[in-house]
Amino acid sequence: MIRILRYLILISLILSGYYLFISEYFYLSEANFLEKQIVKKEIAENKKEIIQEKEHEVASINVKKNIEKKQYFEKKIVILQGDTFVSILQNLNFKQKKIYEIISKIENSFDLKKIKTGEIISVFENNLGEIKKIEFFKDSETIISINFDKEINLNIRELTKEEFVESKEYIIIESLFSDGIKNNISPDILVKIISLFSFDLDFQRDIRVDTVVSVSYEFDEIVETGKLEYNDIKYASIIIDGKQLEYFKFITDDGYVDYFNREGKNVKKSILKTPLDGARISSNYGMRKHPISGFNKMHKGVDFAAPTGTPIYAGGNGVIEYVGINGGYGKYIRIRHNNGYKTAYAHLSNYKKGISKGVRVNQGEVIGYVGSTGNSTGPHLHYEIIYQNKHINPLKLKLPSGKILEGKELEKFKVEYKIIYADHLSMLYE
Ligand SMILES: [Zn+2]
Repeated sequence: MIRILRYLILISLILSGYYLFISEYFYLSEANFLEKQIVKKEIAENKKEIIQEKEHEVASINVKKNIEKKQYFEKKIVILQGDTFVSILQNLNFKQKKIYEIISKIENSFDLKKIKTGEIISVFENNLGEIKKIEFFKDSETIISINFDKEINLNIRELTKEEFVESKEYIIIESLFSDGIKNNISPDILVKIISLFSFDLDFQRDIRVDTVVSVSYEFDEIVETGKLEYNDIKYASIIIDGKQLEYFKFITDDGYVDYFNREGKNVKKSILKTPLDGARISSNYGMRKHPISGFNKMHKGVDFAAPTGTPIYAGGNGVIEYVGINGGYGKYIRIRHNNGYKTAYAHLSNYKKGISKGVRVNQGEVIGYVGSTGNSTGPHLHYEIIYQNKHINPLKLKLPSGKILEGKELEKFKVEYKIIYADHLSMLYE
C-alpha cells in the first residue's frame, strides 16, 4: 500500500516537473524573464526531490532505525487548473474531518479562493510518510505554515527583504527594451524608464543608434525565495546625439514620488490622474464584486462620482480614437496619446460639441459630460488608462507632473540629487 502511494507521489512529482517544464515554454512573455529563472530553479529542485524520493525508497528497509531522526522530505505540489485546497488535501489522504479543521484554521487569516493556478504548496513528510507541515505563500511577502503536531497549528511569517540599489549603463543598438534585457535589466525597470521619458521622447522616431541609457534603481531581494522585486528608479538619463535628458527621483513636500531634472523642473505634462473637478473616487482599480452582475471581476479603471453634466477633460494631448455607444460602457470616448498611451471615458451623458473621431484635443480641454449611460448604478465617470493595450491603474501612474520646484523644496532637491548622482557614478565606475 505504502509502496503504491510512493509510486503515486513519484509519478505526481514527475508530472509536476513536466508541467513546470511545459508551462515554462509557453511562458515566454518577456515581462517574466526573471521569474522564469526562478521557475528553472524550482524545476532543478523538483528533480532533486525525485532523486531524494528514490533514495528514500531504497533506504526504506532501514526506516525503523531512523524513526527518532526528525528529517522531513519536502514535496512540491503545483496547483493545476480545477484544483482546490480541499481537493489537494483529499489527494494527500486527509480525512474529511481533518480537512475541515485545516480549512477553518486557514480561513481565519487567508481566503483560500485567492490561491491561483501555478502556485506551489510545499508538503513536508517525516520518514514514515506522515505529513508534518504544509506551507504556501500568502502573498509575495508572507508565508503560511500549517504544522501537524498533536494539534494543528497555523503560523504566518513574513519573508525577509533585503534592499539594494543598482546602476547600469548601456548603448542602444536595437531598441531601449531589447538592449536593456541584454544588459540584464529587469523588464519592470525598462518599462518604468520608457514611461518616465514617454512625454519627452517618441521611442519610434527619436531613439538613434548609439543612444546612451544610464539608470539607477532600487530593488528588494526576498531572502527565502531569492525573488527580486523592482521598486523606483532613482536616476535615469538618456543621451541622444550628445543631448542629455535626465530625471532624479524626489519625494515632494506633499508626499508624492516624482521626477525632476537638475533645475527642479518637470517640463512635460503627463496624463491627468483625475480628469474632472470636484469628484470623489467611488470605486478603485482592481478586483471587485461587480455592483450589477454580482460577479468578481477586474475593475479596469477608476470611478469618480460626480453630478450629471460635470465636464470631463482630456487626460492628455492626443487624437480622438472612438466616440459613441460602446456596450456596457454606454456613451464612451477614447483618446490616443503619445508613446502607446490611451485614455477612455465611460457612462457619459453627452459629448462636447465638435468631438468626433480624428479630432485633436489638448490636455484639459472639455470632451464630454458625466452621466450614467450603459451598465451604471448612478452618475459617475469610469476612467481608464491603457498603456500598450494593457490597462494600468491611473492612480498609480508615475509620470512627470509638470511641477516646478521652488524655494526650500528646490534646495532640498538639489542636495538629494547630487547624492543620487554621486552614488550612481560610484556604482558604475568603481
Ligand atoms: Zn468603473
